[in-house]
Amino acid sequence: MLSIVVPCYNEQETVPLLFEAIERLRPQIKPSLEYIFVNDGSTDGTLRELRHLAERERCVRYISFSRHFGKEAALYAGLQAAKGSLVTVMDADLQDPPELLPRMIAMIESTNLDCVGTRRINREGEPRLRSFFARQFYRLINRISSTQMVDGARDYRLMTRQMVDAVLRLSEYNRFSKGLFSWVGFETEYISYPNRERAAGKTSWSFWKLFNYSLDGIVNFSEAPLNIASFVGGLSCLASAVALIFIVVRALIWHNSAAGWPSLVSIILLLGGLQLLSLGIIGRYIGKIFLETKQRPIYIVKETEKSNRPDQPASVMSPIERPDEKHDE
Ligand code: UDP
Ligand code: MG
Repeated sequence: MLSIVVPCYNEQETVPLLFEAIERLRPQIKPSLEYIFVNDGSTDGTLRELRHLAERERCVRYISFSRHFGKEAALYAGLQAAKGSLVTVMDADLQDPPELLPRMIAMIESTNLDCVGTRRINREGEPRLRSFFARQFYRLINRISSTQMVDGARDYRLMTRQMVDAVLRLSEYNRFSKGLFSWVGFETEYISYPNRERAAGKTSWSFWKLFNYSLDGIVNFSEAPLNIASFVGGLSCLASAVALIFIVVRALIWHNSAAGWPSLVSIILLLGGLQLLSLGIIGRYIGKIFLETKQRPIYIVKETEKSNRPDQPASVMSPIERPDEKHDE
């Protein structure tokens, strides 16, 4: 069976479009299909659409969160719920072309790949500034992190059960999927395709949301900022020690102590600034540790398709369990 995991946040127009697009491909797809739509606390009619769809079609399942938890949480919930031996993750807005699916399935079945990913070869239709920052982000993260991330790679990918289980074992609260998919390893090959625009609706990522997301990526997958902070601190220590010796020696030999309070003030400001910057960097890591140690669930489910199907037990699946969590006796 193939499970299709779709995170949805305010996608009432695109959910039916996506479903139809995939159904049209059905004859070309050998395994049986299971849809898992994850409603990430949408404020529009997405949940209503999902209820309709699940009532009509047996192969459609959905999970609806109690509030907005973010795409990463939705992906995790979907992967946890997926039962197929192959699992694909796909955006609801048709920016991830479903037509690639048959080819991806064929690739996984005919080779011993564990994952077929997709990447867009251009970013047409995207604001220039955003593309620029995106490129810089990939350059930076690949330089400072041992986890490599492919520029332009989408979350859209087909994975084997083995790889999905590996991703699920990473049950951290701060999730950065692009990194997690790469961190677990396995053999991945990428299919390239030209960028597509959304079928309907609008993107929920503002520039600042993306900027923060990229900082999250760096903090989650690299310790370089901490190293840089200590390196700069060490360097300025060394420089001021040299300067101090120079001043003392000069005063001893020529007896002229310079009247230099402007330089003094600027040095104090410089050092103060560096200290605050380093504190900020450390703070970001500590904030992550704080959230992580609280062990909060990644998401909370309010409703699933089972709540509306009378012939199935109404128990809502427990989202709280983290896989592989073993308690010491
Ligand atoms: N999404 C989500 N929660 C969010 C933001 C987005 O579940 O907080 C879903 C959204 O419904 C879509 C996918 O993630 O299916 C990608 O979102 P979007 O198209 O807005 O991002 P973009 O393609 O512009 O990067
Ligand atoms: Mg999109």
